[in-house]
Amino acid sequence: MEDPSALLARVWGFDAFRPGQEEVVQAVIAGRNVLAIMPTGGGKSLCYQLPALARSGVTVVISPLIALMRDQVRAMKQAGVEAGALTSGNTEEETEEVFAAIDAGRLKLLYMAPERLASGGAMTLLRRANVSMIAVDEAHCVSQWGHDFRPDYLRIGELRRSLNVPLAAFTATADEETRAEIVTRLFDGTAPETFLRGFDRPNIHLAFQPKDQPRKQILTFAAARKGQSGIVYCGTRAKTETLARALREAGHAACHYHGGMEADERRDVEVRFQQEDGLIVVATVAFGMGVDKPDIRWVAHADLPKSIEAYYQEIGRAGRDGAAAETLTLYGADDVRLRRAQVDEGLAPPERKEADHGRLNALLGLAEATECRRVKLLRYFGESAAPCGNCDLCDTPPELFDGTQAVRKALSAALRTEERFGAGHLIEILLGASNDRITQRGHDKLPTFGIGRDMSRPQWQALFRQMMGHDLMRPDAARHGALVMTKRAHPILRGEESITLRRDLVNKAKPSNVAKA
Ligand code: ADP
Ligand code: ZN
Repeated sequence: MEDPSALLARVWGFDAFRPGQEEVVQAVIAGRNVLAIMPTGGGKSLCYQLPALARSGVTVVISPLIALMRDQVRAMKQAGVEAGALTSGNTEEETEEVFAAIDAGRLKLLYMAPERLASGGAMTLLRRANVSMIAVDEAHCVSQWGHDFRPDYLRIGELRRSLNVPLAAFTATADEETRAEIVTRLFDGTAPETFLRGFDRPNIHLAFQPKDQPRKQILTFAAARKGQSGIVYCGTRAKTETLARALREAGHAACHYHGGMEADERRDVEVRFQQEDGLIVVATVAFGMGVDKPDIRWVAHADLPKSIEAYYQEIGRAGRDGAAAETLTLYGADDVRLRRAQVDEGLAPPERKEADHGRLNALLGLAEATECRRVKLLRYFGESAAPCGNCDLCDTPPELFDGTQAVRKALSAALRTEERFGAGHLIEILLGASNDRITQRGHDKLPTFGIGRDMSRPQWQALFRQMMGHDLMRPDAARHGALVMTKRAHPILRGEESITLRRDLVNKAKPSNVAKA
């Protein structure tokens, strides 16, 4: 059987599970009865779709929302998965197609509206369909006291008894009475394995730093944690080797790990990490799936991860024992360029690329956050929280400034040059540099020439990075990384919106006075 994370990558194109998904997926694949309470938008559907593919036979999905079922069937079919729906909205033809797929033993996912359970024909069909599992979406609809009560949901318990297969129930409604009612009505009162876990890992300290002297930043972070077990994630295999060497030279026990190593070499590192105290593994994302070490005290990212999901999964390897753990994620303009290019140059269809950009944006937004990072992280996964007191921004609230003026200068420099240049050249224009590249193109004649002399080059670099972090501009792979404006930039350029930036990130970029916005 293909393992869950391979399926996740192959069928969905996702690089990591979201918080909570992996545990639920494993329990469902193992055929246990499961009740999972997850916030809306948290990614519940994957928790039954993926096990449906991993298991043999048909998974019946009961859902009250016809439009949602149709969407999911379409998406699954696009991904090459045999799925069908039996709802009142079906055409005769669609229904025939579903029956045929069942009889041919091809169907993996069968979506059904609860009304369907009332008809005797449906039961007969399901009995001969090799059903191996039932998934119930919006399971709180079985609660007679709730707002969404669906009388037909009461038939699900009977369906489960008659098919005698495991059942996985999903809902975003967590109150205790509803849960108790779900257990009674869907599981005949026998408690299923229940997943109700906040996603927060309050013992993990969150911190980001722009890349300044990246190797030194990692060495400094590790030096303050000497003798503790830690992981450093790198973007390339080569870097794992050089950084591990640098750490050893600084007196740490460190080794590298990546997918290009022989299986027994990798196994060695895994075993050492498990057994030794205080080993640092410098690795690509290949390291981690099999790692189950509770006392990893820190995780550092020498390069920006791919998505907010990957970030969460990787930092989540620290502090499983519940004791304090620390993380540091470095990011720079090059990371943004690289990650964007990876998405653009990939083979995924356009909608998936757009979604990948979105997940990268979410991570960049976290990197450039101006307030508590945990609030922002949890909000992305559908949970609300109060400022945590355990992230770098809670520790030292950053000084903010109105960056609107400076951003508009930068945007107009791009616009005046038809969005055909990268940050380096745009900064030359803003600074009013007189060199051949500028004069040959006549850029010294532009109205934007020299309008940014109130800031230094490093400050402009920091500003461009923050702009990319806020997704106001994106490097365009088709134009050799030229910066093009996104939709988000327009209202700022037109003066309809302002933007708040972090002064420290601009100031730290050294000299002179920052733009008096
Ligand atoms: P829910 O039913 O919990 O409200 P969905 O199952 O509709 O949420 O998922 C919400 C969104 O999250 C979808 O756009 C889905 O593609 C996305 N998603 C789910 N799991 C992942 C993952 N592991 N990585 C990235 N995106 C994910
Ligand atoms: Zn915080």
